[in-house]
Amino acid sequence: MKAEIICVGTELLLGDILNTNAQFLAKELAALGITVHHQWVVGDNEGRLAQLVGEAMERSDLLVFSGGLGPTADDLTKETVARCFDDTLQLEPSILEAIQAYFAATGRHMPPHNEKQAMVPQKGGWFENHNGTAPAVWFQKDTKRAVLLPGPPSELKPLWTEQVRPFLSDGQQRVLHSLTLRITGIGESHVEEKVGHLFENENPTAAIYAKTGEVQIRITARAASHEEGERACRAYAEKFRAILGDVIYGEDASDLEHTLVQTLTEKGLTVATAESCTGGLVSQRITQVPGSSEVFGFGFCTYANEAKHKLLGVSEATLATVGAVSWQTAAQMALGVARVSGADIAVSLTGIAGPGGGTDEKPVGLVYVGAARGDEVYVAKLLLGNRDRQSIRISAANRALDYARR
Ligand code: ATP
Ligand code: MG
Repeated sequence: MKAEIICVGTELLLGDILNTNAQFLAKELAALGITVHHQWVVGDNEGRLAQLVGEAMERSDLLVFSGGLGPTADDLTKETVARCFDDTLQLEPSILEAIQAYFAATGRHMPPHNEKQAMVPQKGGWFENHNGTAPAVWFQKDTKRAVLLPGPPSELKPLWTEQVRPFLSDGQQRVLHSLTLRITGIGESHVEEKVGHLFENENPTAAIYAKTGEVQIRITARAASHEEGERACRAYAEKFRAILGDVIYGEDASDLEHTLVQTLTEKGLTVATAESCTGGLVSQRITQVPGSSEVFGFGFCTYANEAKHKLLGVSEATLATVGAVSWQTAAQMALGVARVSGADIAVSLTGIAGPGGGTDEKPVGLVYVGAARGDEVYVAKLLLGNRDRQSIRISAANRALDYARR
């Protein structure tokens, strides 16, 4: 079944409010196995709304509306959609009574124009709104259906969950199940090059997304149940794992820091950090994970050369000759923090996060990440490009967290 979401309201068009209803409805429809092909925002304008509804009815089976069910003159969704669906509206006495009672309960008199909220489709149907005055309504014309919900999320969500969703899912048992593979240390185009052919599949589908400092692959299976969907997603994820190997560091909500803390806890290992350009971001992210005290005890923020020398023993000669942003400094920082902390694994970062400070030789985005185990040290040189400061810091921190888990 193909669906379109149509949100009505000039406030939305002007950017005065964020369209959270569209997000909510899109996720809900996907969970029902209903494919959303379009989302629209249209102002409180009868002509433009009618045109859009006409076009959407040609393309799709289900139209879900939010907004414009209020009592005022600019609330015209119901009247307009009724015309498009060849239906008429009639007064529903039980709703009128409910609205009158709603006003009475708040000590107010019902203004006459609220009566229009008690108008419901003659051929279609309606759902009582327990959190406001506008009922949700539905229209049907041949195989096409429209569901109209009030705009306020506090009314839309319970109406949807308690009444509209069961109404729509009746006879529909196909569900969508998704799984997200999280990848770091390799760029989007590189991932695409290796596993591009796996994005062609029809069920499960797979799509690639570039996030700050990581790439995600979202696998979505259509199935009769969530259990079956999960099995299909897992089986398809194996195809990615077989090719990409351990650049896949986690799944779904498990981010790098959670993966790291879990891996180290399982192995009984500890990690310590020495950070310059990330200013403590790596230790902050590790300590965000509950239970991280098992694996983390020492995090140095050595921003100045003096700190690198005094706290970590980076040699003054190194700092004076090759400078703070060098593989030698990264190596000495990692070895220094390993020595001071006694941690099994030590990671270090030194680099140029910009926007200033870059030279031809050492451009913005140049970061050295060191990883030491005992007196063995490995340094990676990253060229993260002339991006904004925060994304350089996040990408560098990701790399350090990734090295620490390996
Ligand atoms: P009302 O009876 O309040 O007029 P309505 O069904 O006519 O309800 P709108 O007038 O379009 O709905 O919107 C009422 C309020 O609901 C908006 O001011 C806004 O706070 C919220 N709202 C409307 N549409 C959305 C949306 N798409 N996402 C989030 N909030 C929304
Ligand atoms: Mg309104």
